[in-house]
Amino acid sequence: MTTVDQLTSQEAIALEDKHGAHNYHPLPVVLKRGEGVYVWDVEDKKYYDFLSAYSAVNQGHCHPAIVGAMTKQAEVLTLTSRAFHNDVLGRYEKYATEYFGFDKLLPMNTGAEAVETAIKIARKWAYEEKGVPEQDAQIIVCENNFHGRTTTIISFSNDEDARKNFGPYTPGFIKIAYNDADALERALIENKNVAGFLVEPIQGEAGVFVPDEGYLAKCKALCEEHNVLFIADEVQTGIARTGQLLAVNHENVNPDILILGKALSGGAYPVSAVLANDPVMNVIKPGQHGSTFGGNPVAGAVAMAALQVIQDENLAENAEALGKLFRAKLNEYIETSTIVSLVRGKGLLNAIVINDSEDSSTAWDICMALKENGLLAKPTHGNIIRFAPPLVMNEEQLLDCVSIITKTLKAFEK
Ligand SMILES: *Cc1c(COP(=O)(O)O)cnc(C)c1O
Repeated sequence: MTTVDQLTSQEAIALEDKHGAHNYHPLPVVLKRGEGVYVWDVEDKKYYDFLSAYSAVNQGHCHPAIVGAMTKQAEVLTLTSRAFHNDVLGRYEKYATEYFGFDKLLPMNTGAEAVETAIKIARKWAYEEKGVPEQDAQIIVCENNFHGRTTTIISFSNDEDARKNFGPYTPGFIKIAYNDADALERALIENKNVAGFLVEPIQGEAGVFVPDEGYLAKCKALCEEHNVLFIADEVQTGIARTGQLLAVNHENVNPDILILGKALSGGAYPVSAVLANDPVMNVIKPGQHGSTFGGNPVAGAVAMAALQVIQDENLAENAEALGKLFRAKLNEYIETSTIVSLVRGKGLLNAIVINDSEDSSTAWDICMALKENGLLAKPTHGNIIRFAPPLVMNEEQLLDCVSIITKTLKAFEK
């Protein structure tokens, strides 16, 4: 079968089923094209994308400025490795560090790699700058975290699917409750060898858990008091998704280490990064960390274009305004709903909690019905459905989506 043949959905799904590892459970929809807030399946049915590839496609599908930057760069130079310099990396690093307000950037490819990088930097900083005895550095993480899928990262997950039978696990992590600054304070008092506190400003995968206002600022203050690095994993929440450039901006927090991925490329290419100021980043010396593709010229060109789109199209402001409208409209519906218990979120990172047991298939069934009605979303953790459309959506489209969602939910009312 050649790539020019048009497969039916069933044929495409059957091929994946037979020849691909079964490490995902996708909705049965086969997409072939995307533009802005829309995607089309192989039967030419059009959908609103309400997942945005887990918030990678904040700038909308196939944004012409991003695709243009990518193809232009791909025609002249794609990869040199870091054995040699390329003429894009420095420009990208200057652009991105000025954009986010840090001294330095370390380029990687995927979110998990960037988290791994942040962990390594924090540990090295603890030994060389803080004076923690070798092998004793600890990193504090939160329950129900999601930071990726590597062996070290799943070591401090409490999702049994992610963890079970992948051990032995990497030591050196202390798990505390999320949204509990007192728990962080207790952990910091008990442990003198803490390098960093790794936290998602909103827990996306866990079901869009928004911590209480002031939580992040309190945690940052505690970290400062105890000489511990505040490490923000903004792979999902960053880059305008929550109505600010970064979710930590809602509380005016400046992380010591910032982790970015996903929308850093607008979904065009795997691009991730770790940002920090010199006293932290300078612990990494030549040969101590790297990646063949990290910092390649295509990634740099794509990331600069993707970040420029966020500014040029005021996507943070748009996410803030449309998010408020979305939650207001859904709350109107929820007042009389028996099937949805609540909507929560910030900007255009939102979720509804379905009023049914966690192991019921209701959230999945609703997503199947949404698909029939022209809107793609995916359940996360049982009975929660995340709603995260591209940020290039306009008000008319959002209201259209609200009516698709409420109409679909009404059919599930008991
Ligand atoms: C998606 C995600 C990651 C992992 O990114 P990958 O590119 O899938 O490796 C890490 N942290 C958070 C918060 C994420 O949402």
